[in-house]
Amino acid sequence: MKSSFAPKPAMAILGKRDLELGPFALGEQQEPGPWANWRLRTDEDGIAWLLFDKKDSSANTLSEPVLTELNAVLDKLERDRPRGLVIRSGKPSGFIAGADITQFEGVTDPAQIETMLRGGHEILDRLDRLPLPTIAVIHGYCLGGGLEVALACDHRLAIESASFGFPEVLLGLHPGLGGTFRLTELINPVKAMTMMLTGKTERARSAKRLGLVDAVTQERHVRAAVRSAVAGDWKPAKQDLIGRLMNIGPARGFLGSRMRSEAEKKAPRKNYPAPSALIDLWEKHGGDRDAMQKAEISSFARLLVTSTAQNLVRVFFLRENLKSLADGKWNGKRVHVIGAGAMGGDIAAWCAWNGFTVSLGDMKAEAIAGAIKRASELYRKIGHKSTDIRDALDRLVPDLRGDGIRSADLVIEAVPEKLELKQRIYAAAEQQMRGDAILATNTSSIALEQLRTGLRRPERFLGLHFFNPVSRMQLVEVVSHDAVAQDVLAAANAFLGRIDRLPTPVRSAPGFLVNRALMPYMMEAFILLDQGTPKETIDAAAERFGMPMGPIELADEVGLDICLSVAEHLRQTLKPSADARDMFERPLPDIPQWLQDKVAKGELGRKTGKGLYEWKNGKAIKKPPEIPHPPQPAPGAQAEADHLAEMTDRLILPMIDACVACLRQRVVADEETVDGAMIFGTGFAPFRGGPLHYARARGFSNVVTALEQLASKYGERFRPDPGWSQLA
Ligand code: NAD
Repeated sequence: MKSSFAPKPAMAILGKRDLELGPFALGEQQEPGPWANWRLRTDEDGIAWLLFDKKDSSANTLSEPVLTELNAVLDKLERDRPRGLVIRSGKPSGFIAGADITQFEGVTDPAQIETMLRGGHEILDRLDRLPLPTIAVIHGYCLGGGLEVALACDHRLAIESASFGFPEVLLGLHPGLGGTFRLTELINPVKAMTMMLTGKTERARSAKRLGLVDAVTQERHVRAAVRSAVAGDWKPAKQDLIGRLMNIGPARGFLGSRMRSEAEKKAPRKNYPAPSALIDLWEKHGGDRDAMQKAEISSFARLLVTSTAQNLVRVFFLRENLKSLADGKWNGKRVHVIGAGAMGGDIAAWCAWNGFTVSLGDMKAEAIAGAIKRASELYRKIGHKSTDIRDALDRLVPDLRGDGIRSADLVIEAVPEKLELKQRIYAAAEQQMRGDAILATNTSSIALEQLRTGLRRPERFLGLHFFNPVSRMQLVEVVSHDAVAQDVLAAANAFLGRIDRLPTPVRSAPGFLVNRALMPYMMEAFILLDQGTPKETIDAAAERFGMPMGPIELADEVGLDICLSVAEHLRQTLKPSADARDMFERPLPDIPQWLQDKVAKGELGRKTGKGLYEWKNGKAIKKPPEIPHPPQPAPGAQAEADHLAEMTDRLILPMIDACVACLRQRVVADEETVDGAMIFGTGFAPFRGGPLHYARARGFSNVVTALEQLASKYGERFRPDPGWSQLA
């Protein structure tokens, strides 16, 4: 399992390139040396080359043993005094991907973390003070602790492929090995803080503009660049005057408060304390290296033991678990998509962007034309190079006659949600498809057991349930049924890995997992609405819990027509049955008449400019919510807080209960898959670590009691699922 932020897709491309490793040769047999993870050799110019090549790992990550060895290397360098030092990664994939995140799991004692960090700081300070020119030569990713090592060198030389970032904030942390002060001392401190507050990466050229790297070059010029840096031809990397002015006290106070209000909007301090802790650090100590170093160490240690950081570390591994399902091999090259509508068009575009040759069929030429137009808009947004955009558009082939089916390795069907239509299409497709090709449906609601009847090769048929918008929603449910072959499921997972999506295995069942769990949440919001609660208030309650958007806004975003059809389907299919596995189902609430009326009138939400909200420029127009923010310590405040807590439970607990039902019915295999799917498929409050993790932390019996109380007050729809008693 990977345990760093290293991105995967670049590896294949980089692996083919030769790295300039000075006196070392890429891939040369490693003779046993004094260190397991580092190799040191001096070239004919008297320059020492230190290669970081972590043992038994495809990526370099920092851990205590790695840093202890680096300390020993520094002993030797201080003794030998070469003319200069180059630090480089021996891995084709990149420089250093950050800290080994497994070290962060389950830690509870800040004092112990402080001790560990102080040790790390001493080592990087030694590197920083080394009395010879030091140059980090960086290719591929240079993240977190990796960037901190690079910042402790005198110069940074980037290969064009390099990218730089501090992703710690995504784990509820900030840099902890000197990054906070070294970066804010080196470049414009507002830009430095933005990098650390957002976790975004900078590519080599923009890192050069920021002053983060001294130069950008190609492998063939590395040797000459290193020689001239060691000869003292490079000016010392230094902050400019504006940057220095921003680092003085009053400017920091002013800029800090602006940053704080921006950060609060995106990630409230109560739920995500790291951004504000980072702003505090800089505001109080910016420009004073010693003070900031001490404060960075204790702030990092405090953050790491918070439930937010621990839950975000959990989320990191949940993602890795889902990603690892996609590790298998599948050599398919061609995808054919049937149906160029909202989903099919975007699935085709995404596959072409990720290197597949894609033919796109539809009964209407306009639908294909619309999909290609949307694809080109998407590519322009996400692409950095015009050649990438051109190549992806070349790979996306309009195919009105459906000729591409014959040569496709994978055929994905995304036509309207009608059983007979889909079956008719399969019958025709199977006649033309290769015997070893896979047929997948994007259906949201039709049982795969029904869809597969009549197929000649049911074992090569499965569901690939993408979410809208395809380019942004990482999760894809991989839907199995009792006749599908294991190698087909494995191939589908591997396909999803190649298009950078996260596979989630689910068994065919009403709504699969994600829609099944989301629907009670949205339906309860509709009931609250009918009972007179303003929509803004409902949304604010869910957002305060940590959902990225409230259920009413979400319904508009997804489309009220889609919500209606999923709700109708679930109401029909989720009925008590004789099957022991499905013995218990709570009734889903009645579908409000107004929902049906709105859909009939074409008020479908964001896509039509009006749904439950009015929409302008892609944003819902909202009034301020009628809930105190934060609850005021005034008479009646307790009642307000209780009311808010109950409203939040009414929204959130039925969603978690549906997750428990899905586990009991074996729709999903385990709690981790549920939590990962709900976080990556719905944005379920990441700092809570997932719905089941939240329930576990709150106490299963507490949640069950709350559901029982809601059931006696508001009705049977809240009756807890029997699956709760099976959770250990
Ligand atoms: P859509 O109506 O936007 O697109 C369907 C397309 O299929 C249209 O372009 C239509 O012309 C074409 N089509 C109809 N009959 C055809 C035929 N015989 N041959 C070729 N093309 C034909 O629908 P959509 O929203 O893209 O949904 C497609 C599928 O994806 C459905 O099964 C739906 O349940 C599922 N889905 C939708 C969403 C969503 O949010 N829209 C999300 C997940 C899954």
